[in-house]
Amino acid sequence: MTNVRRIPHFIHGQPSDGGSGRWAEVFDPATGAVQAQVALASADDVSAAVAAAQAAFPAWAATTPLARSRILFRYKALLEEHVDEIAAAITAEHGKVLADARGELTRGIEVVEFACGAPHLLKGEHSMNVGREVDSWTEYAPLGVVAGITPFNFPCMVPMWMFPVALACGNTFVLKPSERDPTAPMILARLLKEAGLPDGVFNVVHGDKLAVDALLDDPRVQAISFVGSTPIAEYIYARGSANGKRVQALGGAKNHMVILPDADLDQAASALLGAGYGSAGERCMAISVAVCVGERTADALVAKLKPMVEALRVGPGCQGDPDMGPLVTGAHRDKVRGYVDTGVAEGATLVVDGRGLRVDGSPDGFFLGGCLFDHVTPAMRIYREEIFGPVLCVVRAPDFESALALVNDHEYGNGTAVFTRDGDAARQFAHRVQAGMVGINVPIPVPMAFHSFGGWKRSLFGPLHMHGPDGVRFYTRLKTVTARWPTGVRDPEFVMPTMK
Ligand code: NAD
Repeated sequence: MTNVRRIPHFIHGQPSDGGSGRWAEVFDPATGAVQAQVALASADDVSAAVAAAQAAFPAWAATTPLARSRILFRYKALLEEHVDEIAAAITAEHGKVLADARGELTRGIEVVEFACGAPHLLKGEHSMNVGREVDSWTEYAPLGVVAGITPFNFPCMVPMWMFPVALACGNTFVLKPSERDPTAPMILARLLKEAGLPDGVFNVVHGDKLAVDALLDDPRVQAISFVGSTPIAEYIYARGSANGKRVQALGGAKNHMVILPDADLDQAASALLGAGYGSAGERCMAISVAVCVGERTADALVAKLKPMVEALRVGPGCQGDPDMGPLVTGAHRDKVRGYVDTGVAEGATLVVDGRGLRVDGSPDGFFLGGCLFDHVTPAMRIYREEIFGPVLCVVRAPDFESALALVNDHEYGNGTAVFTRDGDAARQFAHRVQAGMVGINVPIPVPMAFHSFGGWKRSLFGPLHMHGPDGVRFYTRLKTVTARWPTGVRDPEFVMPTMK
């Protein structure tokens, strides 16, 4: 393949093809064509990126938080100037519609805004006179080189959950983005340099398992932030932790929305349409299960949803104004379509079948129409497993308690929502549900940047969520200093000091 655009790594502020000679194809999901090749790092390429980050660390850690914050302010302005370029790159490689690409960037910029508060975020606590002439205070020290490994579905937002906070805290960073849509992260890197970030503070290596393993095993890497599927999250957590690193690894999801009989069903149906089919269901906070309490609720909701799902406009994300674009790769589209076949074989009722969809002018694009299943049961694979496509499953539950038990019994616990007009039921749900993010009449309760994002159960390995206060804790080590002035010679103490 000649003349195909090549996407290099970004090491010490410079593009680099690396030395592996291995390249992966990057598709245009709307046409099915290969549009670029991305470098796949060797262990030596990863080592070079980590070395650049390690060399840049002492000076960056010594930069005042205010100076770091000013670079981030410039970065925010640059990101806003380049929204169209970044959104176009996301849509071209991921496939999501342009408005959604802009939306993901906006959510990422909000984390930059949060990180601009570095001086405030890094303020410690101080206690005077903890003993006679003794004061004590806490400091937040950066960790050193930290790495982020990110999924295809948010090529900008997910890296931006990580690196703005890590950099604000004084760490240097190596990003290993998804090899399926690597162009947008490269723009993020270029703009960081333009904003004045010193070379080596932020590096990008592309790659597959080989690159990830090199990061997990490199003793210079102090911490790993991961977002992706649960089997890989579990692997990252185990191997990174065994190597003595701090790890936060966010995994997959099966987000349930419970619809109680008193809910506004028009509001619930339109929420389900956006939350189930937006970005073709390739969102970790997508609603993939609607739990209807009572047969009448289920019948009425399915009747409302059926024509809405049938009317979804599907097409290339950068043309016209479609509701949904293609799936990211042909292999992923086939996997999702295979789940629809499985659901039919398992006996669920396929109310809307999107498998036959053809998009005019894009015969080879990775498209799949919206699919709606009713009468799904907890034993079915389409209920238990993450499908990650435009497939919504309706499960019928007899009452509130059994609906809540369904959510709590599922292996994933990322996000969930309840739709109701009953404040007491909503409160019960919010307090008793086993999930990290809960919406009350809000289908996709993604926390703002100044709160933290993360799930429970097998949706998160590690104690700390991303961005917000947990992000600052993850990317810093606490140090507590105890000081006595004046330092006159005193009698030695042979028992445990008690600060009398
Ligand atoms: P993925 O797990 O396949 O890949 C994620 C990252 O891991 C990529 O950078 C990839 O190159 C790397 N990777 C893949 N296989 C690996 C292996 N065997 N060893 C080491 N590294 C490997 O996930 P994906 O398909 O890119 O993204 C979709 C998944 O991400 C879904 O499961 C979705 O729920 C999840 N996700 C979760 C959240 C969350 O907040 N919990 C957010 C976004 C996406």
